[in-house]
Amino acid sequence: MKPNNIMVTRSSMPDMEEYVEEIRELWESHWLTNMGVKHRKLQEMLLEYLEADHVELFTNGHMALELTLQSMNLQGEVITTPFTFASTTHAIVRNGLEPVFCDINPVDFTIDVSKIEELVTDRTSAIVPVHIYGNICNIEEIERIADKYGLKVIYDAAHAFGEKYKGKGIGTFGDASCFSFHATKVFNTIEGGAVCFRDKDFGRILSGLKNFGIKGPEEVDGVGANAKMNEFCAAMGICNLRHIDGEIAKRGEIVGKYQELLGDLEGIQLSMVQKDVQTNYSYFPVVIDEKLFGCSRNEVFAELGKSGIMARKYFYPLTNTFGCFHGKYNPDQTPNALHISKRVITLPLYADLPLEDVERICGIIRKNYRK
Ligand SMILES: *Cc1c(COP(=O)(O)O)cnc(C)c1O
Repeated sequence: MKPNNIMVTRSSMPDMEEYVEEIRELWESHWLTNMGVKHRKLQEMLLEYLEADHVELFTNGHMALELTLQSMNLQGEVITTPFTFASTTHAIVRNGLEPVFCDINPVDFTIDVSKIEELVTDRTSAIVPVHIYGNICNIEEIERIADKYGLKVIYDAAHAFGEKYKGKGIGTFGDASCFSFHATKVFNTIEGGAVCFRDKDFGRILSGLKNFGIKGPEEVDGVGANAKMNEFCAAMGICNLRHIDGEIAKRGEIVGKYQELLGDLEGIQLSMVQKDVQTNYSYFPVVIDEKLFGCSRNEVFAELGKSGIMARKYFYPLTNTFGCFHGKYNPDQTPNALHISKRVITLPLYADLPLEDVERICGIIRKNYRK
């Protein structure tokens, strides 16, 4: 990485002194993991911040999702979208479940709720929708369909940390919502994740499975994994959470600048904040229509790269085209997702990204407009 390069994201970190202060007592206690004081403190802080009923912490967002699906003891098919990170689809497949891919809507890139019902069969057990880029799925319609067919709803909320819909914490919807606290996310614990949920019995199974299914000193009642958040990651989370509102506000300013500088160009679809949503500005995707814009997504990506600006083709390729699935799925069945994945690019966005850099990035994009 050259010093002047602008990466697509940059991890938020507290002052080093703040972190050192937070971990100091670990040198006294020698308690480094297994639901120690930092783990419990972060859990309490998140319960309040996310306005959730219950929160369970994990070593990463993927294990949060994978073990949530396992805890629900699902069978057969799960309806989801291919316009997401590998984790969503992998969590389904690694549970021995069959992903059934539903298309996305081309406006906010979330699951197209008008196409879910035609995919429901007598083998369907759940829906795993994704709040993509911080855009919230059509929660009411998903709830209606889930109630009608008796399906579980597990939201992949990796992009939706701290968001609210109609004034309610985003983790309060569905049977569970899974968050990622990876270094690249709006809120990070270096690596980490969490699940928000309402049902206490589900929570007992879930918390058991993150620690090998160990129930007591001489009793193991689940085939669990090891997915506990350690004390150092929890301490990082405690520090970062103190500053999160300021970080999100700074992201909002950057997004405003992008909208101001790119809003007048034809053939470039910008990300807009949805109605009734308090957003976290997690990503700034733009969709480039070559015919109107006069230059393709790949060309814009390459031009930015030449100037050391590392944008990302996120999400490309679709998960239903991954080589590991050996041609099992047909991406032509999700045409909107396929179309968007070939045209989308996420631009650099992090709290400390200087506005002058946003101007430079937009300048390069504008230079390529109908050139
Ligand atoms: C980041 C991410 C995950 C996985 O989270 P990790 O903490 O990296 O394991 C899952 N789904 C989506 C959509 C993500 O962006």
